[in-house]
Amino acid sequence: MKIVINGIHANLRFASAHMIPCHEFCGGIHGHSYHVDVTVEGERGGEFGFVVDFKTVKGRVREICKKLDHKLLVPENSKEIEFKNIDKYVEFSIKDKEYKIPREDCCLLPLPSTSAEALSEYFVEKLFQALSREGADIQAMEICVNEGIGQGACFEKIVK
Ligand SMILES: [Zn+2]
Repeated sequence: MKIVINGIHANLRFASAHMIPCHEFCGGIHGHSYHVDVTVEGERGGEFGFVVDFKTVKGRVREICKKLDHKLLVPENSKEIEFKNIDKYVEFSIKDKEYKIPREDCCLLPLPSTSAEALSEYFVEKLFQALSREGADIQAMEICVNEGIGQGACFEKIVK
């Protein structure tokens, strides 16, 4: 059985800035009001016959959202970004563009990109780890990271 959580209605949201290095339109720093839709599939169990408690899932997703919210999302594993220094400031360049952003305004992510595609995979891995630690028996999980209403990317993890 599946449980489905709609990010707009359940308030699983964050607002962040990012850029897609070297992309014609998305290469400049810009922002999105993201929302995150979640589907978790598993066997019903426990005292209440839940797949997983909605409250638990929403809490964990909100923790991930909070980490990203109101930050510039910087992909640490980007092939295009050359990091110069990470201390009080995060200093990096993308070709001939130089950046110096206060560390507290950045969220460095171990990803090759901060596209919706990469973020959806990131959310799945983080949520899967968190729920597994709490003993949830998950068969599959899908998370869609939407860059505002009308466009998003969904990543599905199926547990064998
Ligand atoms: Zn964007």
